[in-house]
Amino acid sequence: MILTAKPVVEALLPGLTAQTQQFIAARRRAPHLVVILMGNDPASVIYTTRKAQAAETVGFSRETLAFDATLPREKLFSVISDLNARADVDGILVQRPLPPHLDAFEISTWIEPEKDVDCFHPDNVGRLMLGRARLVPCTPAGIFLLMNHYGLSVAGKRVAVIGRSPIVGGPLAVLCNQANATVVQIHRKTIAPAQVCKEADFVFSAAGKAGLVTTDWIKPGAVVVDVGINRNPVTGRLCGDVDFDAVRGVASAITPVPGGIGPMTIHALLENTLQAATLRA
Ligand code: NAD
Repeated sequence: MILTAKPVVEALLPGLTAQTQQFIAARRRAPHLVVILMGNDPASVIYTTRKAQAAETVGFSRETLAFDATLPREKLFSVISDLNARADVDGILVQRPLPPHLDAFEISTWIEPEKDVDCFHPDNVGRLMLGRARLVPCTPAGIFLLMNHYGLSVAGKRVAVIGRSPIVGGPLAVLCNQANATVVQIHRKTIAPAQVCKEADFVFSAAGKAGLVTTDWIKPGAVVVDVGINRNPVTGRLCGDVDFDAVRGVASAITPVPGGIGPMTIHALLENTLQAATLRA
């Protein structure tokens, strides 16, 4: 089974659009998302455009604030403080990667936790760890939406999460654990990663390394979710971490790249924005 995002998003969008209309009718305003773009990294420009378009599709209002990559740290702080104070702003995100003079952790602490739709603020991360999430980081949330749609549950299963970043691998492992999986995390220092991974019923790869996960890593019949977004070093085409053509012959189900977790992440951002707007109101 190829776990594509398209049917999932098509199934979820009508409900989200209807909930947005209810919000607008009750509050006499639309949920409002602000996306901050620092510089003109081509991938970031594409992602911020997609996020803005998706927000409009479901009926949100939105702004994209684009700044020169050299914008001083103090100025960005002032922009974010103003957005925190605005009653009409429900969600704020700063697109990553950031220019080198900006510290991602510091910026995550500037955004009001109630408006932190990426779920990077330490307060939101702490709540997630404690099983009391206000918002769930978009990529792990999108993965769970996709799995629910296809009737896949990690409960009681062995799960391998490749990568431990605070954006994907870290929270994904926590959420799998909370969903009653037995979780192992694989990272750069893991000894015999293929052997460890091959024990898993579910493999989530978020390493950012094209071709990392080959058939040697996959137990026959496992479910494989590929979060990686890389360029194939030979063809230059977009690809994940998993050798898709080979692994699809071993796995029972696998996500494609593109068309898998990317669109789910954007959908989860929309759900988070509506959730933030609803909780704040
Ligand atoms: P990151 O660089 O912050 O973290 C990568 C993690 O993978 C690290 O913990 C590292 O230890 C581990 N890792 C790297 N190489 C490894 C190897 N050879 N073996 C084992 N572990 C290894 O990256 P990130 O922000 O977590 O993103 C990971 C990937 O997911 C990237 O390709 C990124 O573009 C992609 N991504 C996709 C989406 C989406 O919507 N599909 C969203 C966020 C990130």
